[in-house]
Amino acid sequence: MTVSEGTCPRCNQHTMMTPIEINALSRTTRKVNDVSMWVCSECGMDEGLEDAFLSGATKQEHWPLDERTFDYFIRETNLAYADLLNEGEGNG
Ligand SMILES: [Zn+2]
Repeated sequence: MTVSEGTCPRCNQHTMMTPIEINALSRTTRKVNDVSMWVCSECGMDEGLEDAFLSGATKQEHWPLDERTFDYFIRETNLAYADLLNEGEGNG
């Protein structure tokens, strides 16, 4: 499978930003000898949650994921964040 720079290798969605380095550095590639792999911000958040609440981030051999482990939570968080932004703009 060919993965273009615009596609997140973890969720296989076109949500990557350029340059690649401004995306989230995957927690699966943080050991000294690992090849750096960047994932979209949602996957970066997902890996952080997996690391905090489960036994660590999903290994690359299981990529791409059908659905992020905490996908529902992340979408709710993004919605709540968008609401906050909207409320901020409405003030005045
Ligand atoms: Zn992703």
